[in-house]
Amino acid sequence: MNFRLAGLCPNSITDGPGLRLTVFFQGCIRHCEGCQNPQTWPINGGDKADTSELLKSLAADPMLKGLSLSGGEPFLQAGAALELARGAHRLGKDVWCWSGYSFEEMLPWEDVRAELLKELDVLVDGPFILAQRSLELPWRGSKNQRVLDVKASLKKGEAVLLPGQN
Ligand code: SF4
Repeated sequence: MNFRLAGLCPNSITDGPGLRLTVFFQGCIRHCEGCQNPQTWPINGGDKADTSELLKSLAADPMLKGLSLSGGEPFLQAGAALELARGAHRLGKDVWCWSGYSFEEMLPWEDVRAELLKELDVLVDGPFILAQRSLELPWRGSKNQRVLDVKASLKKGEAVLLPGQN
């Protein structure tokens, strides 16, 4: 499936645990003040990419522990993100995702975005809020954001932090 790609990090050590393939999706309508990736905002910017090509890259490197979906806003291209997440799981990789939407905003969704949420292992949720910025938090930029165990959160119907996160 084709989608708009802002960039790739083929060997990231900062987007979740272990060595990871990070996919930065193009497009975000939130426009947080202080966003680190404003070049990802234009919906039609970036480059055309193909999910099957990226999955081939993921399969080709056995050192990669997981796939990280970032942006931009991955949920604006949920169909492509879902294909990547399912493909990563088939390869035995874990899937982390960063979104400007909160888990509570996502809960009522019933479309492909809900399928994507169900496929994730970990969600770092919520917009970047400059007034709550912190450099000391692993995996997130501001204190409002949370590192969530998605399966546990969906089972409980409310946000459940990944063990060890606060
Ligand atoms: S949600 Fe993320 S990518 Fe979008 S503007 Fe906010 S920080 Fe930037």
